[in-house]
Amino acid sequence: MDATIIDLRSDTVTRPSSAMLQAMLEAKVGDDVFGDDPTVNALEQKAAAMFGMQAALFCPSGTMTNQLAIRVHCQPGSEVICDQLSHIFLYEGGGIALNAFSSVKTLAGDLGRITAEQVQNAINNAEDVHQPVTRMVSLENTMNKGGGSIYDFNEIRKIKKVCIENGLTLHLDGARLFNALVETSETPADYGDVFDTISICLSKGLGCPVGSLLLGTNEVIKKARRFRKVMGGGWRQAGFLAAAGIYALDNNIDRLRDDHRRAKSIGEILSKKSFVKSVYPITTNIVIFELAGDMLAKDFIAAMAGKGIKCVAFGKHLVRFVTHLDFTDHHLEIFEQNLALP
Ligand SMILES: *Cc1c(COP(=O)(O)O)cnc(C)c1O
Repeated sequence: MDATIIDLRSDTVTRPSSAMLQAMLEAKVGDDVFGDDPTVNALEQKAAAMFGMQAALFCPSGTMTNQLAIRVHCQPGSEVICDQLSHIFLYEGGGIALNAFSSVKTLAGDLGRITAEQVQNAINNAEDVHQPVTRMVSLENTMNKGGGSIYDFNEIRKIKKVCIENGLTLHLDGARLFNALVETSETPADYGDVFDTISICLSKGLGCPVGSLLLGTNEVIKKARRFRKVMGGGWRQAGFLAAAGIYALDNNIDRLRDDHRRAKSIGEILSKKSFVKSVYPITTNIVIFELAGDMLAKDFIAAMAGKGIKCVAFGKHLVRFVTHLDFTDHHLEIFEQNLALP
């Protein structure tokens, strides 16, 4: 990151470190569509083992891994239950309808987290021909639009129980799951135990240039591999990118705590400013706050751009900052000095 520009629009803006680039340069590659890229295969096996799941599929984006899961679990006329702030509902271009010909029932959770009771009450009557067939539940952890909130794992277990009792599959949009894992006592295997499919992003806090993984059973991943090809996601010497993923899983997980510490510092800085009305609770690397008065997020963002600080609007009066691997303590100091309205 340019020392004078503080880019907090997302944790996707990071550039690969020289050590990560070195790992990419040294990657042994093959043709992944033929299944013989050794580095892609190693990444998929490593991730599957980590989560105690049978198989994994390396994909270009988290949108693709989520959409593949939905496509595999649903049939035309199915319904997906999720929180109203979910990425799969808000930010995937209507993909549930487009790819899986299915509808969504959105629930109003607590900072994006739904409960087992809400899920139970949202399941349609399978005997009633008027209603779409409820097929899957999708949770997001951490919850982006909920300010990086973390799910209570006990509630996840209760949701799983409801899913089992009602024949529903349970998917996790874990784009930022590692941010939750470093703050809680659960392991990746605990998550692998509960979810039918898990999507994780390597391109967010883990600092890879590109890439996400879908985890599931051999059968689910085999189907997903077919749909990935149909979506144009069959890639060839993807091992160069998979090498970055292996590097990230080995080196960039524990350091997420630094991002969380800096996000909390940003929250403290913000709460002293007169232009801030309130700040969402900060538990991971996402800071969402509401502007005071009638100030519009777009006007605030334009003013910050003039100060070399980049952020995004998360509502008419809501702004989001995301900390990441290329945002250091030095950048935090510059941020504090420059964060002022003209
Ligand atoms: C970033 C993100 C994704 C996937 O985004 P891509 O840009 O398609 O990789 C999915 N879910 C959540 C919660 C995200 O933040």
